[in-house]
Amino acid sequence: MEPTVKLINYTKEPERVIAAAARLCYSERSGEDLFENLSDEEVKKLVKNILNLGHYSVLEHVSFTFSISGISRVTTHQLVRHRVGCSYSQRSQRYIKEDNFDYIIPPSIQERPELLEKYNETMENLNNLYEEFAQVVPKEDARYLLPQAIESKIMVTYSLRALLHFIKLRTCRRAQWEIQTLAWKMLKEAKQVAPLLLENVGPACLNGNCPEGKLSCGRPYTKEDIDSLII
Ligand SMILES: Cc1cc2nc3c(=O)[nH]c(=O)nc-3n(C[C@H](O)[C@H](O)[C@H](O)COP(=O)(O)OP(=O)(O)OC[C@H]3O[C@@H](n4cnc5c(N)ncnc54)[C@H](O)[C@@H]3O)c2cc1C
Repeated sequence: MEPTVKLINYTKEPERVIAAAARLCYSERSGEDLFENLSDEEVKKLVKNILNLGHYSVLEHVSFTFSISGISRVTTHQLVRHRVGCSYSQRSQRYIKEDNFDYIIPPSIQERPELLEKYNETMENLNNLYEEFAQVVPKEDARYLLPQAIESKIMVTYSLRALLHFIKLRTCRRAQWEIQTLAWKMLKEAKQVAPLLLENVGPACLNGNCPEGKLSCGRPYTKEDIDSLII
């Protein structure tokens, strides 16, 4: 099962909003005037300047809302560790019964038939036990039997600043495979509506700065890699 990521809402004209906010700091004109009257060329120039200078606070005026499904609780747990400029709503295991749950199979297990069989059997056993327990104890208690592999659904809203931070950390090859896939898909969705803002976005190594030190994978991404992953 692959994660499904759908951008369901975002700030209208995100590049123009950011350009107006950036220009406002150094102008006597109102934000409204700037938003309505900056030329497309000025917007482009201002956005490029902001990104180059790292004046990221103006990026907080823009946000993106993603609907995500087909991911494990392993990954939603990693996702919700991102706290700043991030909002979450996740399907509840207290109120929704998880009988016949779907689950995620890591590729390393998928490709080993002898392990895959045991894995699937365990999931079936857990499902049976869960259903048995849920008949006599509250769902909130029966859920202690559920695996981390269980499929979940979550809605996420990130400010652009938070999204850039998330993408930088989670598209890194050292992040776990599932959250990496998710991060690339979120970038792809957002890039369709804000191409200029997300032009050179990716892991830290894309700009030659691997922060992983001795743990570095030694395989820095290039712009061509990013284009092939996103298109
Ligand atoms: C490859 C990888 C491996 C990881 N391994 C582990 C692990 O083994 N164990 C583990 O627990 N986590 C692990 N994490 C999660 C990681 O520690 C962070 O919790 C997660 O990536 C969220 O990052 P963040 O705190 O920068 O983001 P956010 O929570 O969104 O914060 C954004 C930024 O705001 C600032 N900030 C936020 N809160 C504070 C604060 N209280 N005080 C001061 N500044 C603040 C920081 O500059 C921070 O970078 C891993 C992450 C990655 C990418």
